Amino acid sequence: MTGQRPQRTRREQTRLTSDYPSVSTGQLYRQGRPIEQPPLLFTDVGPPQVEAALLARADHVECRAFFHDDRGRPTRNDFTVDVTWRAIENLPDAGGGVRPVFHCCSCDGTFRTLFFVGMTLMCRKCARLTYPSQHRRRPSTLERAEEIRLQLGGEPSVWAPFPPRPSGWSEERYERARRREEMWRHRAMMRALSVGRRNLPGTRGEAPAAARVD
Ligand SMILES: [Zn+2]
Repeated sequence: MTGQRPQRTRREQTRLTSDYPSVSTGQLYRQGRPIEQPPLLFTDVGPPQVEAALLARADHVECRAFFHDDRGRPTRNDFTVDVTWRAIENLPDAGGGVRPVFHCCSCDGTFRTLFFVGMTLMCRKCARLTYPSQHRRRPSTLERAEEIRLQLGGEPSVWAPFPPRPSGWSEERYERARRREEMWRHRAMMRALSVGRRNLPGTRGEAPAAARVD
């Protein structure tokens, strides 16, 4: 419990995949061979903004890229990304049963998508990017209680009287909503109490000491 707060701070500092330009093998290879005229990528998500001409070969991709800084000034970097062909598991008869994967220049792992980070292309992990879905916050217990009150057409505040049964709601449905609201409100109160107790003078030193035992 006590470790949750610093973890959230660290998460907020992480960078998201959606903020960085990327390239996937599907953009460069089709049906087991390189696309003859692969796309000229210009990606204005950023940082960094990237303009890249990619030429797909059987065993590597030639990349000529301009990375633009905050003021739009380009820095050119030419490099190659190694490509190998992997058997497609569970799909033995699809297009010869192999598909291309990129080698990450940093860890040499194989991936179908790489990201333009630090003037080159690397995998999501080496680029230290996380998926936006990993940051979707679950509603708090208090928010869940408030949500139920709003559904009933009442005030969201848990201090307001519980809203009366809306027309069209059966007695049973209303009762279920009331019990759920009571459960979430109770949990919110218990949580508020335990946080309050942890911050009381004299108990502060005890909590970390107890946590260190396990
Ligand atoms: Zn990597």
